[in-house]
Amino acid sequence: MEVKNYIDGQWVADNLKGMPVINPANGEQLAIVPLSTTHEVNEAAIAAKRAQKQWSQLPAPKRADFLYEIGFKLKEKKEYLAQLLTMEMGKVIEEARGEVQEAIDMAFYMAGEGRRLFGETVPSELANKFAMSVRAPVGVAGIITPWNFPIAIASWKAFPALICGNTVVWKPSNESPLMAYELGKIFEEVGLPNGVVNIVFGTGPTVGTAMVEHPDIRIISFTGSNATGSKVAELGGKLLKKVSLELGGKNAVIVMDDANLELAVEGILWSAFGTAGQRCTACSRVIVQKNVKEQVIARLLKAMDQLTIGDGLDPNVKVGPVVNKAALEKINHYVQIGKQQGATLLRGGKILEKIPFDKGFYFEPTLFADVTPDMIIAQEEIFGPVVSIIEVDSLEQAIEVNNGVKFGLSSSIFSQDVNTIFKAQHLLDTGIVYVNAGTTGAEIHLPFGGTKGTGNGHRDSGQAALDVYTEWKSIYVDFSGKLQRAQIDT
Ligand code: NAD
Repeated sequence: MEVKNYIDGQWVADNLKGMPVINPANGEQLAIVPLSTTHEVNEAAIAAKRAQKQWSQLPAPKRADFLYEIGFKLKEKKEYLAQLLTMEMGKVIEEARGEVQEAIDMAFYMAGEGRRLFGETVPSELANKFAMSVRAPVGVAGIITPWNFPIAIASWKAFPALICGNTVVWKPSNESPLMAYELGKIFEEVGLPNGVVNIVFGTGPTVGTAMVEHPDIRIISFTGSNATGSKVAELGGKLLKKVSLELGGKNAVIVMDDANLELAVEGILWSAFGTAGQRCTACSRVIVQKNVKEQVIARLLKAMDQLTIGDGLDPNVKVGPVVNKAALEKINHYVQIGKQQGATLLRGGKILEKIPFDKGFYFEPTLFADVTPDMIIAQEEIFGPVVSIIEVDSLEQAIEVNNGVKFGLSSSIFSQDVNTIFKAQHLLDTGIVYVNAGTTGAEIHLPFGGTKGTGNGHRDSGQAALDVYTEWKSIYVDFSGKLQRAQIDT
């Protein structure tokens, strides 16, 4: 498969160098993706700017019609897309189907916004004067996405941007360009006007930086690592751009003495080892109350021993590969640090190198015990199937440990006590809190994002996403026929 850029409604990749796209399950080459330059970014931005005028003048319910069509197409192609998604980044097929479903849900949800996009009407302080606020598009939205949710995150960003009347320049991750390519084909099939969405493939430092720097791209919506996010924020900030960041996590499941342990272990397993631990919301810490610690560990080890590792296309596989060799090395590095700092390795901890894993990038599901909150493995985002058990005495201590990291994306508590639960949801300093469920499982109609180092205060999904892609415009209509001065002639 030869992936091309989608610029102004044309598939183009003239004279560009290519980079192979590798299936992490078996090392096979799936496609070649073009490495674009600032020239292609410029072409895309010009096309998007040109298209934005007409697109924003189309009534929002008409823009919504395109999103409904996109949703139907995604539904039609769901199984095909899910399989391709598994092949390009490794998550198991069941999760890939869930991810495509997320994009379908977002298409329909944002299409519904075409008939809402509510503003406010408020009374004026003056007689015969009308006051209201409306949402106006920002202009051209630059969207930069990671590889771990290649279609869901694109839909979280592109669909609200479109319904609000923006046009889009999108740079997908080079690790997972096939979802972008397929989505581009869908945009073409539903007849989205030329230039409304433009897709430019390439490296972050070249294409991503050129997007952030481009004067016609007024907003950058970025999801990825903290290291890249701060570069984007720095550059975007200097240029006074609107920058929305969704970054890393160090998410914890808290297990209290009174928890349903069977359920808690199921929740931990799903959120720690799903997507091979490469979700921004992955559970990488289990904060467990002293009395049930040994039971939780014993149950977890038993459950981990039943996890089948392998190619995610096999429906029996529960843990797929990690995305590439660099990821394997990074995870391995953290495991060595964990051991050096005195954590006890209870399970896993190794790269799987023998047949049938030798061609892909597989890491054993890994469990550390005797982890203290200050250890590096309890503080930094590992982004792999590695979990640390941290023992605590009380709810207060559990909350302190949960909050004692630089990230604030997702947290979870297992307890049967209503007072414990309500106290925890109030005090956990994360953008998402789950009660009696693992740290993953967001629904698209609520805000998605985190506090502290997980971002800069913006949110994807839900109504909150509309705030990212619109400017508020306040409108005063005076029908008194005379000059009425606010604050003076009241
Ligand atoms: P990454 O930061 O390496 O890359 C993200 C995107 O930024 C890619 O498209 C990349 O090409 C681009 N990029 C790289 N350098 C750039 C630059 N200088 N300027 C502009 N763009 C640049 O992240 P990744 O490895 O693709 O994704 C994993 C990270 O994403 C993890 O930290 C994970 O927690 C985070 N993530 C966060 C959320 C969330 O909603 N909070 C969701 C998914 C993933």
